[in-house]
This record gives sequence, structure tokens and C-alpha cells, in this order.
Amino acid sequence: MSSSFLPRWRRGLFAATAAASAFVLLAGPATAVPAAPADAGDAPVILERFADEQASVVEVTVADRDELDRLVATGVDLDHHVSHTEAGIVVHAVVTPNEVEGLRALGYRVGQTLFDPDDSEDRIGEREATIAEHKADNQAFSATLAQNATASDVRIIRADYYTSGTNQVLSVEAKWAQGQTSTSTLTVSRDSGPGTPIGSGGTQSISRFVDAGVYLYHRGASAVTARPDRIQITSPTGDVAVAQVKEWLPIDGESPEGPGYQKDFVTSYLTPTELYDRIKRLAAEYPQLAEIVELPYKTNGYRRKAQVVLGTANASRVAVDSLAWGHQGGNDITVELADPGAANQPLNATVTGSAIRVSLATDAGGAVTSTAAQVAAVVNGAAGSLVKAYTYRGSAGDGVVTPVAATPLTDNLRAPASVSRDPHPVYAIRIGKFRDGSRTGVLAYAQEHAREWVPPLVTIETAERLLRNQKHDPKTQELLRTLDIWIVPSINPDGGHYSFYDFNSQRRNMTNHCAEGGSTDALARNSWGVDNNRNYSEYSLFDGYSGASTSCTGDTYAGPSELSEPENKNLDWLASRPNIKFSMNLHSSGNYFMWSPGAYSVPGRISAPRPTLAEESFFWGASSQILTAIKRHRNMAVTPARTGPISDVLYSAAGNSGDMLWYKYGIYAWNFEVGTSFQPAWDEAHQQTLEYANGLVELMRVARAYDKDKKRPTSTLVTAPSATEGMVDVKFDVSEPAAVFYTLDGSKPTFDSTLYASAGVREGGETLTVPYGTRVFWFSVDAAGNIENNYRPDTEAKNWNRAFAIISDS
Ligand SMILES: [Zn+2]
Repeated sequence: MSSSFLPRWRRGLFAATAAASAFVLLAGPATAVPAAPADAGDAPVILERFADEQASVVEVTVADRDELDRLVATGVDLDHHVSHTEAGIVVHAVVTPNEVEGLRALGYRVGQTLFDPDDSEDRIGEREATIAEHKADNQAFSATLAQNATASDVRIIRADYYTSGTNQVLSVEAKWAQGQTSTSTLTVSRDSGPGTPIGSGGTQSISRFVDAGVYLYHRGASAVTARPDRIQITSPTGDVAVAQVKEWLPIDGESPEGPGYQKDFVTSYLTPTELYDRIKRLAAEYPQLAEIVELPYKTNGYRRKAQVVLGTANASRVAVDSLAWGHQGGNDITVELADPGAANQPLNATVTGSAIRVSLATDAGGAVTSTAAQVAAVVNGAAGSLVKAYTYRGSAGDGVVTPVAATPLTDNLRAPASVSRDPHPVYAIRIGKFRDGSRTGVLAYAQEHAREWVPPLVTIETAERLLRNQKHDPKTQELLRTLDIWIVPSINPDGGHYSFYDFNSQRRNMTNHCAEGGSTDALARNSWGVDNNRNYSEYSLFDGYSGASTSCTGDTYAGPSELSEPENKNLDWLASRPNIKFSMNLHSSGNYFMWSPGAYSVPGRISAPRPTLAEESFFWGASSQILTAIKRHRNMAVTPARTGPISDVLYSAAGNSGDMLWYKYGIYAWNFEVGTSFQPAWDEAHQQTLEYANGLVELMRVARAYDKDKKRPTSTLVTAPSATEGMVDVKFDVSEPAAVFYTLDGSKPTFDSTLYASAGVREGGETLTVPYGTRVFWFSVDAAGNIENNYRPDTEAKNWNRAFAIISDS
């Protein structure tokens, strides 16, 4: 029953965002007509990675978010680490020496601005127009405050105190009316605890957060030596704002883990084969509570054609690929280019079993004269049922080849035979007493990115905790009785195996989508694959969104089309199950905790639609519960600055899975970025597994609380004097995260009425200015679909809330 209200929230989103556009800075026009996909002329420069090179993680410093977007567009392989420093934005790139040279050549070391020479002027015009619009919004905001004598021109959005490890930190976000035009920092004065004077705890400065020329707010975090109770900001114009400091992720109350709660079940990194074996054993051990589900699409397989590239200079190189898979005979093939050792010999090729022997042509002096193109043709003529030969990456092949002894073709795959070379099934473990779709569903999945080895362990540890504690722990029993839990430890097993055995920086799947004449030869083998977290169907590259590559060798390659990959089709199949309401996409690294929107289009930075005020409050509330559970393990705090929508705190990632789950299926979809590196030393990996499993189990508790939430929200209308004669400022106060639908014209409020919106990015509810005496009708509905007063907008019922917008004198 409750589920039917979620789409209503979603529908309301668009109207509400538009209504609030004067204050919403990032959202932009809620109509969000996607920009046309970049045409070929706008294709970014793609850095090339050669198979003989290993990748390393390097720091790249860029000046601002615009430049970061362009860096992403080169297809360079960025991990999820982004830190803002005095010198600019520091990102970590996973690059080979050749790619490093490419980056240098592109000017990143000298901070050179990279615009594609083909960038059309109208795109720049479009960008400037949208930015100007955002700036006008800021000026309108500034003007509104200036009119209102009772308001300060500075407003504190968040003041969070937290501990992390042995450190104490105060993080402050504030919005200043002059922030668009003035570059001033703001100074925050702290007290040193309840009842102490402001300033006694010291001061810290916070600086402007500007993106694409648009001022968002001031922010900054500093170490403190005592927990402040209040802070004060005096703006450069002399206006003052004061706020109470809240504790971010306080560890209080009892542990949700009862006596005898068991944990710590993972003792090493696990390959995808081992991950699947592990969940199969678990399901076999608990047949009443768990089962293995093979997802409908097999992967393309940990397998390749056997290949070789003969020669060194491009014009004289000959590439040869087997027609059979390497393990099915391709690896047995050899190719020899033999110098006949006599003058005036013709070019010919012979095949004996799997051995291809080319006898090269010679001139009157006995010198070899056969070119690469000629050799490829003669090989195809004689051995066309075994191999395909071609010149190197579209070269005319007019260079004379160098003779070589018989050389084996190889698929270059080094995993032991225990790793299947066939298209691989992808398995989920489904946990719950009632696995018939009648219970609230929760989905957790890991290893979209192959090299991220810790996230799969978090899912295994979580499955183990759920099954092994249910016998003696009533709270775990309750979770298994009321939830339908799907856990997929590895979405991308082919890439995962490749990462363990062949190329540990592998991010993508193993499918080669490069076209003939391009990077299809053996030397490009570490550059193939689709980024599974860019191949989904909402706000994708194909819809014109930013942060994915069109290049088959780009590390954020979006694939040939939306949902082209079996890995992605599997997740779509899982998410389409109607009972799934919550999901966690587990990645590493960076200690982030994020949700939608995860993408924007770059001219003007037009974001996918933002969640409503009510949805955003639900995301924040559940997030702090989950992050508190993580912190319980070893006091590691995911910071407020790394919590929020993906595109606010990280960068645009067009076609990511969280956005598909949220926008297409209405699932509350989160993303973990676990830890600080992809493959940390085991002791650290072990700790990360334990701390993030705390968070994933906590997501089950969030789902359970939602499931049993029968409590109706309550709300009140709060009025305040307006700066404008004859008007009143009104806001709605709600008892829990809840959507408010209202009318101001005396008509009955329904789900089609205006949805109360946010005042702006990371801010609370908006202030409506209405004529004195306006009749306000409204009702609220919480995330679980409970409606205030049990009002039924689709019936003749009249028990909605009503009030007059007046200021009472009492
Ligand atoms: Zn990832």
C-alpha cells in the first residue's frame, strides 16, 4: 500500500523544483531538457594505454571543477579521491607512463586550460546564459535579503562537530548574500562549550565554494580542541548569524548488536569465483533462510582471442588474431615470417596443423621486400579459417616486415584453469524467511569496478552476519522475517578475475568494443572494456550528460549504447523487482556516502533533478544512521563534506547505477566509497570490511524501520513578519521527513498541489511570502506513505490542515 505514494513524490519533484527555482542554484531549470549528445567533433582527447605498461596512481592538480570535468572527459582513469586544497583540486589518476606523458602534453602540469578546438561558440553561449541565470538567482536572493531589514545577509546552513580517530573537527557551511560577487572569506567565531563566550574557542575561516562560475556557499573544516556549542559569523558588511553546533554522527545509546553478536568472517581478499563459492556454501548451510539466484544474463566471459603483433614500426607491423578463443585452440597457433635466404623469391604462406609459415618475397639482391599489407593478405588467403591478419591500427602497412621465428599467439590470460573461460553466470544470494516478493526488498551489489577488492568483502561479511546471528539474536531474526535481501558480491566477475590475475588496475569489464582499424590488437588489451557504472539508462552520456567517455579505450567508456552489457542488464533486472525500496552500490575509495543526482550536463552544469525536500531529509536522516554505525567500529567519520548527492560532492558520472535505481525505479539508492585505496594491505582491508559491514547491516535496519513505520507525520504552519507591507512569511514544520502539498487559493490540497520545496542546495525548507490573511490548506505524507490525519485526497474527505497566514500578537 505504502509503495504507491513513492511515485507521487517523484512526480511532485518536477513541479516543486521549478517553483523554487529562484533559490535552487544547482538544479537549474527543472524541465532539464538534456543537451544533445556531443557529436564526433567534440570528442575529447583520449589518452592511450599500452598493454606492456603497468598503471600507477598519480596526483593531478586541476584549478577548478570545470577543469576536473575536462580531465574526466579525456577518459583518464580517476579513482574516487577528490580533495580541495589551496593549490586547487587534487585528484588521483590511475595512469600508465604513456598516459602521464599524454597528461603532461595536455598541459595538466602547467595548469593549461583545455578546450576542445571544435567547441562550438553556441555551446559557450549556452553555458554563459545558464551561468548568468544562476548569477541572477543569487542577485535576487541578495536583493530579497537587502529589502528585509530584519534578516542578516549571512545564513549558516550547517555547523557540524565531529570526532574522527583522535581528532575533533568543526565543519561549517554558510551562505552570504554577496558571495557571488565578493571573494571574501568568512570568519567563524566559536565558543568553547555551553555558556562560554563566543570567541573563547577560537576562530576559523571558511571560503567560497564556486562551481562553473556559480557561487554555492562558503564551507570549511578545522581542527578544534573543545566541542563548541554555538558559532557566530559576522559578515564583511557587519551582519551577524548565530547557530547551534550539532554533533555529526554522535555515538550514543546502546549498540544495536545484541549480546553474543558474531562478526569478523572474512580472512582474505576473494576472487569472484571464491565470492560465488562462498555465498553458495552459505545458502546451502541455511536452506530455510537463503537461496542462490543466478541472474538472467551471463557475462561475455574471462576469455579472449589469441593474438600477436609482429614487428615494431607501425607501418611494418602485422597483427594476427585467432578466430577461436585462446583456450579453444587459439593459443596453439604460431606464425613465422621466414627469410627464404635466396634471391627473387615470391611471397607465399603455408599452414601445417596450427603452424602458419610465411615465406617472404626477396629482390634480386636477396633482400626481403614483402610489406605488412602484403603479408596480412597472404596470411588471410592461406590461413583464413584459423586467423585474421591486419595492418596496425589502420596503417596502410607499406613498411617492409622483419622476419621472425615461429611466434605463438596467446590470449594473455594467466588465471589458473579453475577460473572458467566460459560466459560467466552472475550470482546473488537472496536472504529472508519469506522470499516471495511480499517483503520490503533491499539490494546490495559490489565490484562494478573490477579492481575494487574490499567492497565485495563487505557484502560477504554482511551476509554472514545476517545468517549466523539469526538463531540467537532477536533483532537479526526480525530483519530476516520482514525483509527480502538481495546481495550480489560481484557484478563484474570477468573484470574481477582479470584484476586478480592479469592487470590489477582493471576497472571495467573485459568486452572489446573497439572497431576494426582501431585499438583491437594485442597491445591494446588492457584498454578494453565498458565502465559498468556508466552504461545505465538514466541521465547517461547518450542523454547528453557529463562524466563518461565515448572512446572504447577510455576508462569511463559508456559502451556502445545504454544497458549494452550483460552486467548492467542484470542490475536492471534486479532493480525492476517491485518490492525493492533500498539499495547500496559498494565502491572504493575515498570514504564517501552519496546519492542522486549523480550527473549534470556540462554547458551550464544542468543537474539531473534533485530529490524533493522530503526525500532529501529522508536521505540525510538514514545516512547519518548508517554512517554512525560505520563510525562505531573504529571512530572513522565519513565527513559531512563527503556526504550528499554524487554530483555535489564528487563529480558528474553520467549513466551511473544509483541514478538508474532512483530515477527509473524510485529506489532509495546510496553509494559507498569504502576506504582510501583500491587494494590496501590486508590489515587495513580487514578493518574497512568490518566498518562498512556495520553500515550495510544498518541499511537493513533503516529498511525495517521504514517497513514498520505506521506513524503519521504532523506538521504546522510557522509565520513571521515579512519585509514587504501587507505580506507574511510562512514555512512548514514537519515532525519527520515528509512531503507537504499545499494550496494558497482555498482549493482542496491533493497530490497534484504544489510541493513544498527546499530553499537551496543543502538548505532547509523555503520561505513563502504570501498576502496577509491568505488561507493555507495542506497535508503531509512521510517516506513510508503515511498521511497526516489519515486524510485521503482522492476521496470527499475534508480533514486536511488549514490556517491563515497572520501574525498573532499574543
Ligand atoms: Zn568504483
